[in-house]
Amino acid sequence: MRYSQLLLKTTKESKQFDSINATLLIKGGFIDQTMAGVYTFLPLGWRVLNKIENIVREEMDAIGAEMLMPTLSPRSLWEQTNRTGFDVLFEARGANKASLAKNDTAFIINPTHEELITPIVQKMKPSYKDLPFGVYQIQTKFRNEERPKSGLLRGREFRMKDLYSFHVSLESMQEYYEKAKEVYMNVFRRVGLGDDTYIVRASGGDFTKDFSHEFQTVCESGEDTIYVNDEGDGWNKEVATEEVQSSYTQHPASEVGNIFPLGTKFTKAFNYHFRHEDGQEKPVYMASYGIGTSRIMGVLVEKFHDERGIIWPDSVAPYTVYLAGLNGDDETIRNQADGVYKALQKAGIDVLYDDRNVSPGDKFGDADLLGIPWRVVVSKKTGGQIEVKRRTEQDNTLMSAEEFIKQVTN
Ligand code: ATP
Ligand code: MG
Repeated sequence: MRYSQLLLKTTKESKQFDSINATLLIKGGFIDQTMAGVYTFLPLGWRVLNKIENIVREEMDAIGAEMLMPTLSPRSLWEQTNRTGFDVLFEARGANKASLAKNDTAFIINPTHEELITPIVQKMKPSYKDLPFGVYQIQTKFRNEERPKSGLLRGREFRMKDLYSFHVSLESMQEYYEKAKEVYMNVFRRVGLGDDTYIVRASGGDFTKDFSHEFQTVCESGEDTIYVNDEGDGWNKEVATEEVQSSYTQHPASEVGNIFPLGTKFTKAFNYHFRHEDGQEKPVYMASYGIGTSRIMGVLVEKFHDERGIIWPDSVAPYTVYLAGLNGDDETIRNQADGVYKALQKAGIDVLYDDRNVSPGDKFGDADLLGIPWRVVVSKKTGGQIEVKRRTEQDNTLMSAEEFIKQVTN
């Protein structure tokens, strides 16, 4: 992609938002704020989010099938599960005269999808032979959070992967639940958070008397407090005993995922049973599994940045290479830079080509701010070769474009 063709405007203003991730992502032209807790993913930010969500998708495919449920639901579904009092619900109604005259809330803008998936599965009548199975989606969720804050960490609308599993027994649910933990850790490892993410016990909320499990990434600006020991045993502060609090290590953390053994809470509410081999009707067991994909993007920026900008892990960077052509008024150099751009593209490397007519300082500043893993410079000084620098390193190396391609594609 050529920089000049991307809807990309980095700003030099040093406006500070309420968090490092909001400040750097807005400054770098990754996101735009519409109002508190509501953001547009601009082309660069959308690329990062897609990379994160594709990793999630690849891992979830091992335990479930992807689908897409609606954003709106009838209020009646939430009456059935007794969750109309969920304090983050957004309610909606039509704004035409007829709808307004009725003066009732017809719709919920979904904050989560247990109320949707349970009756869908029930309608399809899977037999005991079809269980267990899991289905998931990656979608925008809506929650009227009391205090949306910290950029992408807590939004009023945000991206989530949610998976639901269905089982004939508690044992089947538990077995799947353990498998899901492994798959979740694969995701956090692949997006670059593996070293700092712990599975901790947390409250099961209204759903279950058992613990739920949270995936908590150690992060200064996280809203949660966790306690972990050397064996990786972890507790959220809200359920940690005094003994745990005094003998484990305390960290601030952000919850990037949360899994719940729901048991029969929802299937009972919808009176959903399966017919067993012996002809008996038995309740279906359920569990749900969330990952905050846009929150992950915010957490990555909170953790991986320096005074010059973002430092994306290779796996989620919007582009792999930032190519800066300098001395653009010199036709030979411009042709050489164009050639390197084509060669990188041909090798299948994602490259952002800064073809603007601006100073080297502006180009280098943007390369650092945007956090792209490799910076490649073509200029009068590079004499037919290219100058290569890692975002994380100070020194650059001269090499041929072929050598560089070999290094990156390996
Ligand atoms: P929290 O405890 O942070 O309020 P939650 O427990 O209500 O979140 P879940 O319903 O389990 O969240 O949602 C699954 C995941 O979605 C969470 O683990 C988190 O990563 C993400 N998430 C939840 N709420 C938000 C939000 N307002 N903004 C961004 N991500 C969110
Ligand atoms: Mg939670």
